[in-house]
Amino acid sequence: MNLTPLKSDSFSKKARNIGKIKFLIIHYTGMQSMRASIKRLLSTKHKVSCHYLISRAGKIFQMVQDNKVAWHAGKSKWGQVENLNNNSIGIELVNKGHKFGYQKFSGRQINALIKLCIILKKKYKIKNQCILGHSDIAPLRKSDPGEKFPWFQLKKKSIGIWYSLNRKSFVSKKSSAKNLRKIFFKNLHKIGYRYFNKEKFSKTDKLIIKSFQRRFRQGKVDGKIDLECIKISAYLAKNH
Ligand SMILES: [Zn+2]
Repeated sequence: MNLTPLKSDSFSKKARNIGKIKFLIIHYTGMQSMRASIKRLLSTKHKVSCHYLISRAGKIFQMVQDNKVAWHAGKSKWGQVENLNNNSIGIELVNKGHKFGYQKFSGRQINALIKLCIILKKKYKIKNQCILGHSDIAPLRKSDPGEKFPWFQLKKKSIGIWYSLNRKSFVSKKSSAKNLRKIFFKNLHKIGYRYFNKEKFSKTDKLIIKSFQRRFRQGKVDGKIDLECIKISAYLAKNH
């Protein structure tokens, strides 16, 4: 694998045991240009970094060594794990993001990412359930890598998880909205999502639903629970 070193100084200096590496977290840079992104990732002022940065042309830069903790995830949770920086490798894809004109990820960029994921998965024995987007682990703050990120394409290379709906849904169409919410959030909790109360409605529910849709239901990111969301979440909760 062709890696170009581009050393960032924003990382925890104490080395970690590589046995601690359990997750791959995928991001987009969300800045106007690649130059601006690199500048930010190299500046010590912002205290942000990643292990790998992938350009739109498919070039992979290594910014922090795998055995060091990079600062890409921030406050985050997934399942029983909190603050995922300690246990993860962070990969940034150059993309302007939702704020500056969200782009389709380029084929070369995704191919490079797939190659990198295959290597890291094998090297650190990372499970498919532990390959996540930033918005999965910080749904109230983040929306990257977003609904244009091709999770399904990655799944075809055995990276990450996906679902199949060739089974009868157990949900009655008569279920009340309150009931649907309960079923959906129970499924989400089982999958690993956090930052919500399974029993009680909150204004931030919408952000959680959107985060789920950006990952698994990319055609419709509206923050509303419908039968499709229920079916997909039920499949994932049962099978992963
Ligand atoms: Zn991010």
